[in-house]
Parts: sequence; C-alpha cells; structure tokens
Amino acid sequence: MIVVMKPEAMSREITSVIARIETDGYKAHLSEGEQHTIIGVVGESPTPLREENYSSMEGVEKVVRITAPYKLASRHFHPADSVVPLNGSQMGGSKILMIAGPCSVESREQIIEIACELKEAGATALRGGAFKPRTSPYSFQGHGEKGLQWLAEARERTGLPIVTEVMDTTQVEMVCNYADVLQIGARNMQNFSLLNKVGESQHTILLKRGMSSTVEDLLMSAEYVLSHGNNRVMLCERGIRTFEKATRNTFDVNAIPVLKALTHLPVIADPSHGTGYWEYVEAIGRAAVAAGADGLIVEVHQCPEQAYSDGRQSLKPERFRAMVQQIGRIAEAVGRTA
Ligand code: PEP
Ligand code: MN
Repeated sequence: MIVVMKPEAMSREITSVIARIETDGYKAHLSEGEQHTIIGVVGESPTPLREENYSSMEGVEKVVRITAPYKLASRHFHPADSVVPLNGSQMGGSKILMIAGPCSVESREQIIEIACELKEAGATALRGGAFKPRTSPYSFQGHGEKGLQWLAEARERTGLPIVTEVMDTTQVEMVCNYADVLQIGARNMQNFSLLNKVGESQHTILLKRGMSSTVEDLLMSAEYVLSHGNNRVMLCERGIRTFEKATRNTFDVNAIPVLKALTHLPVIADPSHGTGYWEYVEAIGRAAVAAGADGLIVEVHQCPEQAYSDGRQSLKPERFRAMVQQIGRIAEAVGRTA
C-alpha cells in the first residue's frame, strides 16, 4: 500500500502518517517527488492495514494498494525516473551512461592503459572484474584485492568511476573501499544474504538479471536492496537462457520498455554477455538504447585473443570508439544524449 500526500501536505501531517504506519507494525519509506510526497508501507504485521484509516488522515490525498509484489521498486511508489549520482555524472537522467572495460582485471598495466583509451573514446565509467564468477573452478578467478587496487589507480588517472563485481557477503566491505558501483552478477541475483548486505551499504548497485529469471524476479531482488534503505540501484538486462544456440544468451530487448514501465530505477543493457560475440555487440547496444535503456555496459579489451575471460565478446578499443559515435546518434533520435 502507498499513501499519496496532498501537494500542500505539511510535514507534521507526513510525520503523523509515518507514526501511524509504525504503530500498525509496518515500515514507512518516503519518496519525495516534485508534486507529492509518497509514503510506502512495507513489511508484515498482525495488524491488518485499513485503507480508510489512512485516507481519512489530514494531508492524505489517496491510498493506493499496490498489487505487484515489489513495492519500493514500483513506479507507483516513485512516479518519476530515479536519477542515481555517479562521480559527477548521473545515471538515469537524459545522458546515456557508457560503462566499458575488460571482463577481468588482468594486470596493473592492462587496466590503466585501457582506462585511458576508454576515457578518450567517451566512456563514462570503467568496468573490470577482480572477483570472477567462473563456470569452471580451473578458470581464472580474478586478482582479488590487488585487482581492486589497480582499478582505483585507473580511476585516479582518468576520473572514471569504477564498476566491479562483489560475489560474496564477506567481500562487500573490501569492495566498497575501492569501487563506486558494486555489481551483483547474474549468478548472484537471488543471493539474498548478499542483496541484504549491499542494501545496508550506501553504495550504488548494478543488479544484473539472472539468466533464468523473469522481470518480476529481478524487481523482487531489487526490492531486497531497496527495503534495506539503499535506493541507489540500477538494473541490468544481460540476456537470458533460451533454446537458441546461435548466441551465448538471448538478449531480451522486451525487458527494457517493460522495466521502464514497471519501475523508476535506471535500466542498463549488457550487449556483450547478451550476445557472446563481439560482432553483434554494437547492433544490440543500438537496439537497447533505441528501446529506452539508460546506459550500456560493454566489454572492451586491447587484445581480445589473449583475454583471460570473455575475449570472444570483447570489442577492441577502436570499435568501442566507433560504437560511442553510433550510440550518440541513436540517443539523439530518442531524445537523449550520449
Ligand atoms: C561480467 O560482467 O563479466 C559477468 C560475469 O556478467 P554476468 O553476471 O551477467 O554473467
Ligand atoms: Mn564477462
């Protein structure tokens, strides 16, 4: 249930509604829009929620039952697009965010060199995995904290904010010390203890859709983070498993307008994992931005043939540079900038 306050509602009226919610045994979450303050009522309590008790309170315009299982992620709770600040730039505003970098951080020289090239090519954030979720335990698992230190050094050189994966609750504190954005990988989308833990941090979260998860599952996972008080969440469509074998995953372009309709959270697209082949990355990146994505996350490597992971889907820097130009034109066509 959400309580929509009148535009002229006074702060004591808002406080009384919150107090009533707490007395009934629920938690109140505030969303302050330009017009209205909206109060989300979440949690469980033996006291039933009676709409009429709230709609009759002073300053209340209306009470709306949210039928979807996610509440704080819903557009009803926060009608305007959420804009997430990111080191001077913004996520979810009119500008398309271009996150780029290698799948894995492989060495200090590699990450610093590529960061400088990407910055020059027009990237707005740097990605790179220091903790890698690999299908095989014998594959490269990442450089861990050393990798994070190199990423931080790359940020110092370029000013690009860092997006990097955290795989486990025990790593959250360490990764927060270095990263600007914590990536929750597809395989961890329903790792609820990890979602709770990053929800307690105030770090920006990039939550990737699980490869066999529905849009609703993704929004429920976002709800875990939001319900712990962290509202800096961006969602990422990265392709799902289907019967199709021509590509690594099937990029679900439908998910983009669907998510934009259902939630206020920024939506990012990952055409690299979404296709698995560098040849298709630009086309799917363009499609995603045309469909309304707020940003892209793209794997780029100086020498994809020698990459420790995901070389087959990694662009060379010069192709990424061309992609930024293309995305700029698509962005303009849909009323955005890149
Ligand atoms: C990655 O971004 O390198 C990655 C492992 O992504 P995903 O979790 O989407 O597979
Ligand atoms: Mn990868």
